[in-house]
Amino acid sequence: MMIDQKMNEKRVPRDFHARDPEEQRLFLTDTWCDHCQQLGLGMRDPEEYELFGMIFIEGKCCRCGEAVLTELTEDDFDDE
Ligand SMILES: [Zn+2]
Repeated sequence: MMIDQKMNEKRVPRDFHARDPEEQRLFLTDTWCDHCQQLGLGMRDPEEYELFGMIFIEGKCCRCGEAVLTELTEDDFDDE
């Protein structure tokens, strides 16, 4: 057990623009907006970071401008 290990709540910034352009395009278009309750509206101003051992891409909804968050699972950044 690692019970006394504090959760690292600090965001670790990652370079979204270092990703493959095709991959960037996909992340920017394959979105879910909580505010619009609609898929695939797209996001702008993407920021990528790591938190709680997961990768997040956060941007603004192209339609309403509210924050859009994409959570990447292990599979998404596995090269295989
Ligand atoms: Zn929206």
